[in-house]
Amino acid sequence: MLKVVLLLCYILSVQTVEAKTNANSKVRNSLIDAIVLHSIGGPYCENGEVRYSGAPGDANRWRIFFERHKVLGIHYIVDRKGLVVSSIAENAVANHALGWNERSVGIELVNDGDGNDRVTRRQWLALHRLVGRLIKRYSAITVDRVFRHSDIDKRTFKCAGKEIKQKQDPGLSFDYERFVESLR
Ligand SMILES: [Zn+2]
Repeated sequence: MLKVVLLLCYILSVQTVEAKTNANSKVRNSLIDAIVLHSIGGPYCENGEVRYSGAPGDANRWRIFFERHKVLGIHYIVDRKGLVVSSIAENAVANHALGWNERSVGIELVNDGDGNDRVTRRQWLALHRLVGRLIKRYSAITVDRVFRHSDIDKRTFKCAGKEIKQKQDPGLSFDYERFVESLR
C-alpha cells in the first residue's frame, strides 16, 4: 500500500512539476547575450544576524524546488558532484535575475553562498563545460558577458541597522576572476 501511495505521489509530483514549468515559462523575445551565475543559499536576517539559508541536496532536489516555486525559475543547476540538470528550456524566460531574465541564461550552483562553502572541483569543471558550451552556441555571449548575480543586482536589506547586500551569490568562495580567465 505504501509503495502505491509513494508511486502516486511521485507521479503527481512529476506531473505538477511539468505543468507548472510550462505555465511559468514564456518564449523569449530578445537575444540571449548573457549568463548569470547564482548560488542557492542566499542571506537573510534573523534576530539581528545575517544568516545563510544553505543548500543541502543534489541538483534534482533543487530542480524540483524551482519547478514547484511560484515565482522563481532557472535554466540549469550544477550540484557539488558535478551533475548538471536543466529545468527551463534555454529558449524560454526563467525568473532568476531582476531585469536580466529576457536576455540571460541562469545557472544555479548548489552552494550555501556564505563564502565558506567551497565550490567542489567536479562542480567547477561541470560549470566550466556548461558555460563554455553556451558561449560557443550563442555568439552574443562573450566571456565578458558571464556575470555573477552579485554584479548585476545591487539591492540591499536592513539587518540590525546595517545595509546588507541582498544578492551576494555565487559568493566569495567562488573564484570568479579565475573562472572567467579559464574561459578565454
Ligand atoms: Zn542569485
